[in-house]
Amino acid sequence: AQQFGMTEALAQLGIKDINDGTSTGIQNFANGEILESYSPVDGQLIGKVRMSTPADYETAMKAATEAFKTFRLMPAPQRGEIVRQFGEKLRKNKEALGKLVSYEMGKSLQEGYGEVQEMIDICDFAVGLSRQLHGLTMHSERPGHRMYEQYHPLGVVGIISAFNFPVAVWSWNTALAWIAGDVCIWKPSEKTPLCGIACQNIIAEVIKENNLPEGISCLINGDYKIGELMTADTRIPLVSATGSTRMGKIVAQAVAGRLGKSLLELGGNNAIIVTPDADVKMTVIGAVFGAVGTAGQRCTSTRRLIIHESMYDKVKDAIVSAYKQLRIGNPLDQNNHVGPLIDTDAVALYQKALEQVVAEGGKILVEGGVLSGEGYESGCYVKPAIAEADNSFRIVQHETFAPVLYLLKYSGDVENAIALQNGVAQGLSSAIMTNNLREAERFLSVAGSDCGIANVNIGTSGAEIGGAFGGEKETGGGRESGSDAWKIYMRRQTNTINYTTNLPLAQGIKFDL
Ligand code: NAD
Repeated sequence: AQQFGMTEALAQLGIKDINDGTSTGIQNFANGEILESYSPVDGQLIGKVRMSTPADYETAMKAATEAFKTFRLMPAPQRGEIVRQFGEKLRKNKEALGKLVSYEMGKSLQEGYGEVQEMIDICDFAVGLSRQLHGLTMHSERPGHRMYEQYHPLGVVGIISAFNFPVAVWSWNTALAWIAGDVCIWKPSEKTPLCGIACQNIIAEVIKENNLPEGISCLINGDYKIGELMTADTRIPLVSATGSTRMGKIVAQAVAGRLGKSLLELGGNNAIIVTPDADVKMTVIGAVFGAVGTAGQRCTSTRRLIIHESMYDKVKDAIVSAYKQLRIGNPLDQNNHVGPLIDTDAVALYQKALEQVVAEGGKILVEGGVLSGEGYESGCYVKPAIAEADNSFRIVQHETFAPVLYLLKYSGDVENAIALQNGVAQGLSSAIMTNNLREAERFLSVAGSDCGIANVNIGTSGAEIGGAFGGEKETGGGRESGSDAWKIYMRRQTNTINYTTNLPLAQGIKFDL
């Protein structure tokens, strides 16, 4: 942790004593067992945190429900001001927090900074939005009546997040929830608990400086068991859960069982279609970054390349040769392109996927493998691999959260490529590389991509704050971030006001007394 200024970064973020389990942030919702966080970068212990017990959870819920009673009364633009101050603090802490993200999760330093930048961007977006939580007015069918709709906050929003975006996903939810007047209770991934503490320390300062109740932002660290308390809790009207489809199915059923709302951001199986009219250079950049960026651990990572047979060899050769340039190593060192996987369990799943693609008849084009020796002591560094495969292979149908790219061939019309692209259970991100307007428009049409994100001449990976983010089918159907995603954090109320001295009923119904 001495390297790359990590010690200073941790101190700046309020994570001071790594060995006594007290790196638990400002709130005291953590009296349970110790959870150790090891870096996949160098295998070193970064810190120990205490997990929350069911009793701690109750304390946190009490703080949250109390805080909601006052926070909801604050005018939305004033809540926007709190989010603005939060964005300012993030700007000041961008370097330190970006470093911690990189060190605890293993993504490249630039991507760590990028993740914090996303947090800043969603704050800016939310500040503007705090003056634009618009409802509609309608014309009443009854004389002397006015009808309109308004949005009120929901209450306590539960956030369950994944390891791969350990800070941004929280802020996508909180920035909107807070301007909406909700309070939040967050369970970060048990693989990145220190990122959770760092974020909580930053917002806690803003809350304190404004004399607001602490419960506006509550952090509970722990594994799925503490998450289950949230999904079962009728005091949480909305559970926003990001992670695997396996987790999403469990969470969705638990929340639906009590008729709560869930916002699900689950796994992807994203493809780029490469047509005969594609720009090969752009395709290579988009595909390689999409497949190996964050070591293939983005929900939007490119997993499949669907290439027209006329272009197949050309694109294949260009990508295989680009893979030869990749430098794998410490992600804090900006000379490296590919960092580690999150842990050795993820490495085992990567190895299994490569075995399975061969067993199903696939052909390895770029060999994978686990790296060892100096710089690779954590055992989490793997070689990005490419295999020729068929869309029907079970392993191709499955999201392997690692840098494994499958090349698929199509012939004939772009419709055939779209059928392959849509022929998986997930529906997050998709892209087409083409300079042919007809192909691009067909890809975007009603009969085109069935994903929540469909791009033209851009890869599948990454997205801007301004658009609604999320996907269909087994990706869960939720939308976060921009556009009108704020509406899920609020309840809609339709109001009709009668300003006459009569009481006419709707639909002309007569009821004379
Ligand atoms: P995961 O499903 O293992 O864990 C995600 C979170 O869910 C963790 O905090 C975990 O503790 C919690 N959890 C697990 N089971 C639970 C249960 N029964 N009840 C309550 N909480 C439970 O996922 P991961 O390995 O951390 O992340 C990788 C996955 O996340 C990939 O599938 C990736 O595609 C997906 N992801 C999706 C998006 C998106 O926006 N669509 C974004 C990031 C990651």
